[in-house]
Amino acid sequence: MLEGGEELTADLVVGCDGVRSRVRAAISPAHAEVMPMGYRASSFLFEDPQIAAELGDWAMLTDSLERTAGLYACDDRSAALLLMEREDPAVTARPTPDPEELRARFSGLHPLADRALEHAPAQYYDDLVAQSSAPGWSRGGVTLAGDAAHAVSLLAGQGTSLAIAGAEALAVSLRHAGPHRDAGLAEYERRMRPVAERAQRSGRRSAGTFISRSPAERLVHRAARRLLGVRPLTRVIARRLVA
Ligand SMILES: Cc1cc2nc3c(=O)[nH]c(=O)nc-3n(C[C@H](O)[C@H](O)[C@H](O)COP(=O)(O)OP(=O)(O)OC[C@H]3O[C@@H](n4cnc5c(N)ncnc54)[C@H](O)[C@@H]3O)c2cc1C
Repeated sequence: MLEGGEELTADLVVGCDGVRSRVRAAISPAHAEVMPMGYRASSFLFEDPQIAAELGDWAMLTDSLERTAGLYACDDRSAALLLMEREDPAVTARPTPDPEELRARFSGLHPLADRALEHAPAQYYDDLVAQSSAPGWSRGGVTLAGDAAHAVSLLAGQGTSLAIAGAEALAVSLRHAGPHRDAGLAEYERRMRPVAERAQRSGRRSAGTFISRSPAERLVHRAARRLLGVRPLTRVIARRLVA
């Protein structure tokens, strides 16, 4: 049933309603909650040609303690700001955006980030960095796709590709199954679940190292980042991400 009360009849409903999917909650109520990874992320796009010009092709990420600010230009007029801080992993409720509070929490990390913070709108993206899972992605004529089924979180950096690959796997599996819808849905999950779970494991592995907690930890992370710039390693990492 749609929000306006209109009823639709369909052979298959695909729930692609994101990490906090209500369709997942209906298919598997025990897996309605997200699985937080210990961070909260806030983000917005804003127009500021001066900041966009200063950034150019560079992305900026502070390696400050307990919280971080990231910035990149989207084009020659606008840029994106991403702010992240550590959060108690036991908390699952979605936070409420508050631009004043955002400025208070994140000011002082970097002069460019402070200028970007001045653009914070009343409504912006604000949520826990989290994954999602369900023991089965389909029930009857309802199935899940993308973050609703297998959110990997922004720490894995593959959520968009996986959502697109999953949609393709679903379409191909259903086409091959012809009238046997449930066989097609089973084949979709058989193909996609191992790929998504591998990316989720990779996201969880990198979660602990995203923001340093102490100066000593920061030194270790800086050394690790320098190693990432070493040619053969870069190639291995790129291959893992693209695969
Ligand atoms: C800050 C941030 C940075 C990220 N960076 C990257 C990155 O660099 N690379 C990458 O690959 N991934 C990244 N991701 C992850 C990526 O955004 C997601 O994995 C991807 O968008 C999942 O696509 P989706 O279509 O499954 O879900 P979503 O993009 O979340 O889309 C779900 C849609 O459903 C709608 N919806 C929800 N409930 C309802 C409802 N009841 N009725 C109607 N509509 C509803 C929502 O409004 C939304 O439009 C990032 C995520 C965040 C938050």
